Amino acid sequence: MTDAVDEVVGFAGDLIRIDTTNASDSGGPGTERPAAEYVAEKLTEVGYEVTYVESGAPGRGNVIARLAGADPSRGALLVHGHLDVVPADPAEWSVHPFSGEVRDGFVWGRGAVDMKGTLAMNLAVARQLRRDGVVPSRDLIFAFVADEEAGGFNGARWLIENRPDLFEGATEAISEVGGFSVTVGDGARAYLVETAEKGVAWLRLTARGTAGHGSLLHDDNAVAKLAAAITRLDRHTFPLILTDPVRELLEGFAEMTGVPFDPDDPEAAVARLGHLSRLVGATLRDTATVTMFEAGYKGNVVPSTARATVDGRMLPGREAAFEAELAAVLGSEIEQNYLHMPGVSTTFDGSLVDAMAAAIGAEDPGARLLPYMLSAGTDAKSFQRLGIRHFGFSPLRLPPDLDFTSLFHGVDERVPIDGLRFGVRVLDRLLRAPSTL
Ligand SMILES: [Zn+2]
Repeated sequence: MTDAVDEVVGFAGDLIRIDTTNASDSGGPGTERPAAEYVAEKLTEVGYEVTYVESGAPGRGNVIARLAGADPSRGALLVHGHLDVVPADPAEWSVHPFSGEVRDGFVWGRGAVDMKGTLAMNLAVARQLRRDGVVPSRDLIFAFVADEEAGGFNGARWLIENRPDLFEGATEAISEVGGFSVTVGDGARAYLVETAEKGVAWLRLTARGTAGHGSLLHDDNAVAKLAAAITRLDRHTFPLILTDPVRELLEGFAEMTGVPFDPDDPEAAVARLGHLSRLVGATLRDTATVTMFEAGYKGNVVPSTARATVDGRMLPGREAAFEAELAAVLGSEIEQNYLHMPGVSTTFDGSLVDAMAAAIGAEDPGARLLPYMLSAGTDAKSFQRLGIRHFGFSPLRLPPDLDFTSLFHGVDERVPIDGLRFGVRVLDRLLRAPSTL
């Protein structure tokens, strides 16, 4: 045990120092290979047989290894994470984002929470299990994949379409974004497990009109039409829907704080959540947020087209309703081009959930587990297409005042060393437990 706990911080720093910025160009060369090779080497060193595979694009490395379980007839548990990170501008940071510096009890750098800290935990525990000769009750599949930050077209999504054999028999998975603690009321801790995530609709909107000299009268201006449609969308409020994970989360907080939860007014309960309210608030309804707007090429020319990008997120099961509502708000003059991926949702029960609670309880007595819905997306969207049930569970005990959710893709991203070491202990218990599984 001591070894994995000792290794995790070094692994996190090493992985952060390998710059795996995902430039979002699906066809372009990748940055993940050196990180994938690092992981492959650490796994091979302790005796794993490792599969290294790249999508068609060079450098988009993915690493998969399996630890055989005692009972091959039981579904395998997939433990996965992504190697890529979003860009970081060193000028904005207190430390260099790819330094992996250890300071003030934290490991700093891009990917510390999303999600090289987790990869370091998964890697350290995978090595420990192998070194100890553990035969888990069911197969464990460890996957370290490319390209999550751009939709997984060279990572999870590519793998399930081209190499589903690597995930043969997997029925459940754990990965980001969950298992982190939040401190409620007078110091009690809850660990949030992701059981659902919203679907994604990335929309390209186009308005067309009549081009001409800016000095003339115009009643068919593409820029003005699109601006008006975007303004309508920005003012539109999608219906409030209280889904199971959000209700269970708010009920759990109500029990912990003693402040009753009124199911007819979930927004009041969300407003009491502090840092978490922006995330949980976004899971009460669909959202559609404009992120890009491009039009025109000269100050005295009305262009014939204007384009905008909207980041749409719908509650699981709301895909068709969202599309219809959006079309009604935008109107028939705005052309829409969709890329969408449905949401993910499972129930908060079963032997794996019981084993998570037991593992957390052993390391943090009195803490409780609560389900929640992620407003964003992860590789779970790809793996669910193989029928794999997803839980965001990457255990991390956090200081009460840390605004954890804003560290994702944020400036000065960092992860507490104590949290990582705690996570290794919990994960090790979980993956060894005969009941897990
Ligand atoms: Zn991530």
